[in-house]
Amino acid sequence: MNARSTERPIDLRSDTVTQPTEAMRAAMLAAPLGDDVFADDPSVNALQQQIAELLGFEAALFVPTGTQSNLCAILSHCQRGDEYIVGQQAHCYRWEGGGAAVLGSVQPQPLDHQPDGTLALEQIEAAIKPDDAHFARTRLLALENTLGGKLLPFAYVEQATQLALSKGLARHLDGARLFNAATAQAAALGTEVRAEARRIAACFDSVSVCFSKGLGAPVGSALCGSREFIARAHRIRKMAGGGMRQSGLLAAAASHALTHHVDRLADDHALARRLADGLAGIDGLQVEPPQTNLLFVDLTGAARPRSAELLAHLKAHGVLATGLYRLRFATHLDVDAEGIDRAIGAIRGFFHA
Ligand SMILES: *Cc1c(COP(=O)(O)O)cnc(C)c1O
Repeated sequence: MNARSTERPIDLRSDTVTQPTEAMRAAMLAAPLGDDVFADDPSVNALQQQIAELLGFEAALFVPTGTQSNLCAILSHCQRGDEYIVGQQAHCYRWEGGGAAVLGSVQPQPLDHQPDGTLALEQIEAAIKPDDAHFARTRLLALENTLGGKLLPFAYVEQATQLALSKGLARHLDGARLFNAATAQAAALGTEVRAEARRIAACFDSVSVCFSKGLGAPVGSALCGSREFIARAHRIRKMAGGGMRQSGLLAAAASHALTHHVDRLADDHALARRLADGLAGIDGLQVEPPQTNLLFVDLTGAARPRSAELLAHLKAHGVLATGLYRLRFATHLDVDAEGIDRAIGAIRGFFHA
């Protein structure tokens, strides 16, 4: 047994596993609270204003999860019998239990992704149905950025959302990791992260952001949009059971994350690159160069059936990851370079490489 296996593991399963920092806990304890169902919680109101202003929207709504945020968005844009165009791998199509269809009678129109994660413009256009009694009414284009850790090219985001606008569709962004996208975009352009987040957000009528991923808050997401749109989403949130009471305790953590944890996302991206570099050249591993904080590694050749064995080996060496054939490693607030180097050592040990 590795001597380190009794220590806290290097948990690379997801960027959702982080513990609130001491400073975040202090902010939570100090937060003024009220009953948010009466709109009386000053910390929730402050967070909603902070994220709306940051992303350039009139209003925002604090919700418990990204899933509920997307549900509120789709059901606020669409009525029963409407449909939304969405990627096959998009969270709000594939990974949310079919919520928009189950709870809203809104039909998805999924499209295959191109290798860079985009939906081909011709396919979006072809999927928009004519006004005819045979068809569901196409009302919404939903994009996701980042998607599988990939940044959607900004020129594409502009083109796809312009196309949607010209066809009378509303545009929703599942930006669970919007600030990771903005960090990658800012690094590529030599610009500022918040400015890039705002530039991406400006292409959409609504944007959902998670605080509980790379930003390191324990719970919570925000949906941003026009005042009128957020009023509709507020009703859906209540219906979905998301009207919380003294939720300022959680909103204070999210506010703290927005203020203090956006600029450090670049560190997570650097650690994902460090891990990728450390795994280069191992026979049996194909490493996809990471654009953000998610690293995907495919097992190839004779190693292909060995993912469970590799994950068990890593666990025994105090490193946690997930995946089958294709492994995922997420970097975050609670891992550092030493942890990454331990993970590299453990993986190399498995392959005797
Ligand atoms: C995590 C995630 C969500 C959902 O967030 P939950 O808080 O887990 O419900 C939505 N969209 C994307 C892209 C995500 O990564």
